[in-house]
Amino acid sequence: MIQEYLVATDTEDALKLKRNKNKSVFYAGGTEINRLNSKVDAKVAISLAKLGLDTITDEGSYIRIGSMVTLQKLVESALVPQWLKDAALFCGSFTRRNMATIGGNLALMSDQSYLAPALLASRCRLLTANLTEGGAYSEDNIPIREYHAYHQQFSGTLILAISLSKDSRYVGTKRFSNSAQNSAAVTVGFGATQDNEQVIDHVRVFTAVHGSSVQRLNAIENAIENGELTTPADVQLAVHQAVAALDDFVGSSAYKRYIASEGLAQLFAEFLKGGAK
Ligand SMILES: Cc1cc2nc3c(=O)[nH]c(=O)nc-3n(C[C@H](O)[C@H](O)[C@H](O)COP(=O)(O)OP(=O)(O)OC[C@H]3O[C@@H](n4cnc5c(N)ncnc54)[C@H](O)[C@@H]3O)c2cc1C
Repeated sequence: MIQEYLVATDTEDALKLKRNKNKSVFYAGGTEINRLNSKVDAKVAISLAKLGLDTITDEGSYIRIGSMVTLQKLVESALVPQWLKDAALFCGSFTRRNMATIGGNLALMSDQSYLAPALLASRCRLLTANLTEGGAYSEDNIPIREYHAYHQQFSGTLILAISLSKDSRYVGTKRFSNSAQNSAAVTVGFGATQDNEQVIDHVRVFTAVHGSSVQRLNAIENAIENGELTTPADVQLAVHQAVAALDDFVGSSAYKRYIASEGLAQLFAEFLKGGAK
């Protein structure tokens, strides 16, 4: 439970406060931090509200989305691609969309993440800030797959912004739950490019599975790129075998593997038909 609320004056200040205060967290929208039975266990909140990270800007070849941009602002922005608006709308509550941020959602990398499967499928990059062991301030620009693969190591890292390339990549996402307000059993994200010779490249296949984790299905990505999986039915069968899932109150492991494979097969079919970019 939060007992102390500090407002960082700049990004370096936020990182220093985080390092120096025991049991502290960056405070973005606060929707997870204040959530009943939240897994975020913190006593000190370091507000990011004054850091100017809440804008979406057109940078020519890419769009820069500040980490404090809310899910509702994503939905309302003319710069944001439809697949990211779709993912933001997975949060069915308008009130929560108005508070929850893209940075907070990514940092959680939860097993029911609204945005992570789509953002990972998009191959976006993250602009991050850190303190070295000696305390020097540094910024970095990393591929999102790295943030996912080494998520634990990024626990002290501050996400400054998300950088989305304006290339003609297909990205699609789907969420499966009993209702918008219920926990998702599975959320999937698929992204790929296809050139004029129909060569499929840069495939990304991710799924968040309740009770498990956000999983990258590398073998499926490679098999699609190598031409071993060519139809949605091929993809469905392969995903069904590759996904890790457990039985829990949201559904059985068999159901989760089925629904993940069905969702990804549907997205692959949409991609093959030249679906919206
Ligand atoms: C009823 C309810 C249901 C929910 N259901 C879902 C769901 O189905 N799917 C889902 O994804 N989420 C769900 N959430 C959680 C939450 O609303 C979202 O994940 C939200 O996007 C978190 O963003 P936030 O800005 O509120 O994060 P906060 O609560 O402010 O922070 C969450 C974590 O992210 C860290 N953080 C925040 N910003 C940054 C940053 N810029 N850099 C590094 N670390 C940062 C914080 O330190 C903290 O550890 C639910 C919450 C509630 C209350």
